[in-house]
Amino acid sequence: MIRIISVVPIARGVGKETLTYFTARDAREGMLISVPLRSRKIPALVLASKEAALGKADIKAANFALKRAGESKGYVLSPAFVRAAARTARFFAAHTGAVVEALTPAAILEGAPTAPKTAPPATGGQAEKLLFQADEAERDAFYKSFIREEFAKKHSLFLAVPTVRDAERLHALLCRGIEEHVFLFHSEFGKKEIIARWKKAVRHPHPALVIGTAPFLSLPRSDMETVIVEKEHSPAYKMQRRPFVDLRTFAEFYAEERGGKLILADLKLRTETLYKRDERSFAELVPLKFRSLSEARGIFVDMKEDNKNPVSGKTAFTPIGKDLRALLHRATESGERVFLFVSRRGLHPVTICNDCGSVVLCERCKAPLVLHRVDSSRSTAEVKNIFMCHSCRRETASRDRCEGCGSWRLAPLGAGTEFTEETVRAEFPSLRVVRLDKETGASRVKAEALADEFVKTPGSVLVGTEFAISLLPRVPHIAVVSCDAFFVIPDFRINERVFAMLLALRAKAEKTFLLQTRMPHLPVFKESMRGDIANFYREELRVRKEFGYPPFRTLVKLSVSGTEEKARAEAARIAELLVAWHPVVFPARDGVAQRGGGTTLRILVKVTHRWPDKELLKILMALPPSVEVRVDPEDTL
Ligand SMILES: [Zn+2]
Ligand SMILES: [Zn+2]
Repeated sequence: MIRIISVVPIARGVGKETLTYFTARDAREGMLISVPLRSRKIPALVLASKEAALGKADIKAANFALKRAGESKGYVLSPAFVRAAARTARFFAAHTGAVVEALTPAAILEGAPTAPKTAPPATGGQAEKLLFQADEAERDAFYKSFIREEFAKKHSLFLAVPTVRDAERLHALLCRGIEEHVFLFHSEFGKKEIIARWKKAVRHPHPALVIGTAPFLSLPRSDMETVIVEKEHSPAYKMQRRPFVDLRTFAEFYAEERGGKLILADLKLRTETLYKRDERSFAELVPLKFRSLSEARGIFVDMKEDNKNPVSGKTAFTPIGKDLRALLHRATESGERVFLFVSRRGLHPVTICNDCGSVVLCERCKAPLVLHRVDSSRSTAEVKNIFMCHSCRRETASRDRCEGCGSWRLAPLGAGTEFTEETVRAEFPSLRVVRLDKETGASRVKAEALADEFVKTPGSVLVGTEFAISLLPRVPHIAVVSCDAFFVIPDFRINERVFAMLLALRAKAEKTFLLQTRMPHLPVFKESMRGDIANFYREELRVRKEFGYPPFRTLVKLSVSGTEEKARAEAARIAELLVAWHPVVFPARDGVAQRGGGTTLRILVKVTHRWPDKELLKILMALPPSVEVRVDPEDTL
């Protein structure tokens, strides 16, 4: 029997071109095979394999241009994995070779440690796709018992996590008593370490639990019955570099190609994921929790009322309202810790001119400049303030006068982490205050040390951004000092992002969950205070349907960069090609080119019927490589 195979060379990483050969071997997807190319023999990975309709004699007679592939070196990846990668490539308008490369650790493709030469049998059968919406304690408890049940059935499991931190936490929690069967993988291990662990995990004779970030899903074990995607809501599952694939989409295709179970798990699953239950493509592992419970006392504060001076009726600005001040006093007395969440870094996120009303902007990218205190360790001169652009990271001296009208009355607005830290220090000199944001926690080691200092110091206060949340265990008191600034981000997912973040914060609060806002009318705040996922989901779905967003439409976001003139011409040319899909062209909010002084333009289309749309896909695949194509993007900015 003759097979026609498509391969990519993997001499140094995966090659870009796909080559076609014939072979008499039973070469399936994922096999490493030696192929002749020009005058050399090179290793190549089989991406697709099909039986030829012709016999060997016919091929010779037809004087086919096809060459015969050489010897097999065994399987690097499983056939089901490569077939799922091919479907993922089609979904995200990318090449299969690029997707295989993105979804396989570089150390494995370069070192190519192969599994046995026989094809790993697919577990086969129907895929069982399940949703698991419950709080962390419940998920942890389920995993502990589920792993043992699966081991008893001689099944291996893969627990996919978004970050290294999550991998380490779950590894520490789940490996008790079964250490020898648990394998941890993440990107911070060196190449040698990854290859050594990989070989051990592939050959381990007992069923295994593999905990890893998503690219390690490529580990070929024929008994891998269940894949769990933990913290399904995390944007970390969306690759931020080419080929811009979503690892959750891949996990679903992989389950279908492999057979076996897929479990998507989180405190709050994404709206499009919950909708899969309504569509009946996913079932419930256990009845989904649509009400997140919390034993913490909820305090909701309308800051517009709170800051009003009872005599003048005017509002005086302070990031600390009356209730929060009372909470900090109680904490001082009882020696209990408080986490203060602040949405922005720096002193003040915005500076405005009191005369002409204009906002002080970055010259280069037009983002509002953020006022920062210069760190004394960076300068021996006296303490001074500077403006920093959080988009292009350019620093400029803080100015006293408005560039628009020359007025001296520039006023900082809102409170960033630095200003909140200074205010707490000034009002509560005896409290130990730690600040944790991207600036103070620039490396993972530094960030973890600061989180640790807070956890181990009774009566301390931590001021931190979103960045700090995942580093914290449960905390006695949590207060959201400000999160209103998120709502100026013009993106359809911002409401859900804020809701998921507030739910996660509330779930970490043991005694008090306090929320301050100047926008008390927004339903998302009441839903967060009550842990009301059901209402949030219903309302979010209604809005997305009305305005044509996922899961009712598939979005495709294209980006072109260059000089203003070039980018405009290119965007116009592409918009013309896509005219049947009603493209919208707009400048990127935070484009790469903006940072270098150029322009990035976006072209957005909404696809009404089922994706992939063949016609549109053909156009996308033919675009020059300089155009970035994001199917089902994380945002529309
Ligand atoms: Zn002005
Ligand atoms: Zn800038």
